[in-house]
Formats: sequence, C-alpha cells, structure tokens
Amino acid sequence: MRLLVVEDDDIVADAILRSLAGARFAAHRVKSAEAAREALAAEQFALAVIDVGLPGADGLTFVRRLRTAGAALPTLVLTARCTLNDKVAALDLGADDFLAKPFEPAELVARCRALLRRSGGTLDGVIRLHRLRADLAGKRLWVDEAEVTLTAREWALLDCLLRRVGQVVPKERVQQALAQPDQELTPNAVEAHVSRLRAKLGDAVAIRSLRGLGYRLDEAKSA
Ligand code: CA
Repeated sequence: MRLLVVEDDDIVADAILRSLAGARFAAHRVKSAEAAREALAAEQFALAVIDVGLPGADGLTFVRRLRTAGAALPTLVLTARCTLNDKVAALDLGADDFLAKPFEPAELVARCRALLRRSGGTLDGVIRLHRLRADLAGKRLWVDEAEVTLTAREWALLDCLLRRVGQVVPKERVQQALAQPDQELTPNAVEAHVSRLRAKLGDAVAIRSLRGLGYRLDEAKSA
C-alpha cells in the first residue's frame, strides 16, 4: 500500500516525497483535502501525511471528517505552528501524530514507520523490527536471516505485541489473544507461552513483563 501525502506547497511536497522514496515508501501526493477524499475513495492507503494549511478545507478539518466517517487511516499532521494547544487540538480531532515544520526528513520517515507499526499496517504485509522480520499474513518469522518456527499460540502472542511495539498490551488482551474456545488460560500459562516465545526470539527483541499491567515488546537491545 502507498502513503498519501496531502500538501499544497510544491517545495515541501517534493522534500516529503524524496525522503519517503529514500526510505522505499511509495507515495501519492495530492494538493487539497478534496483531492485527498477522491484519492481515498479510489485507493486504500497505509497512512496519510497531511499538512494543516491547505487551500479549501484545512488539514485538521479533513482529519476530523475522516474520523467522523469512521476511517481508521493512520494520520501524521504537519503543522507550521506547534504550540501545545495546536498539538492537543490535532490529537483531539483524531490525528495519530504531528510534526512541526520545518522538520528533518529522517524524523518524518521515523514517525511514519512508527505509525505503520502501531497500526499494524505495513507496505508489504511484513513488519520489520531491527533484526526481526515478521510476515503476519504468511505466518513466517525470521531473526536475522534464520527462519524461526512458532506455534499457533506463539504467533497469536507475537502478533498482538508486534502491533503495539513500545506500548503496554494489557494482560487481559494477551490472555484473550491466546485463549481457545474450549480452554481456560491461567496467567501462569500465559507467562509460560511468553517465556517460550522469548527463548525463540533470543535477544533480537525484548518482551517485558510488567507486573499487574501486561507485556511490552521493545525494540532490540543494542547489540
Ligand atoms: Ca500548506
């Protein structure tokens, strides 16, 4: 899936498209909220980068309409002003993240990557996290270049943690992800599955147990 870039300024748009292309993100650029609506009706996008200052409906109005319509598209809002009020307004309206102009291309790319991971969206169905590469649809996992075989429950566990890297996944949610209709799962059983997954992943990523809260998958400890 491509990224949608909604930016009326040609110079800024070119810089955004160049940095995204440098990170091998394919993107489609439009110049207004109206054109963005048409693009979204015609194609499914993985993420939208939206400038606030647009001719016609502004970027925040566009995000609000997206959310009102129930669209789950991850959005990164670009704003020239970045006061606390602007940030709060952007997030309240349903933006997932924002970046103040002028920004470093590397930060734009990093935030797009983080948003894609958080939403579970990827450009090719594969989630990459440092030394780990997971094809969630094909249920294949590699650490470095070595393929690792997981059981169905280990997949369910990894899947729910990978979609929320760096965030605490409540233990009830983990329990639900692992449960099977005919079987109750005790917290100890969950912990046992987590231990087995940890052993298979080695030090490629860190799965932390947060007592009373849940689990968090962190990006690799540096080698
Ligand atoms: Ca603009």
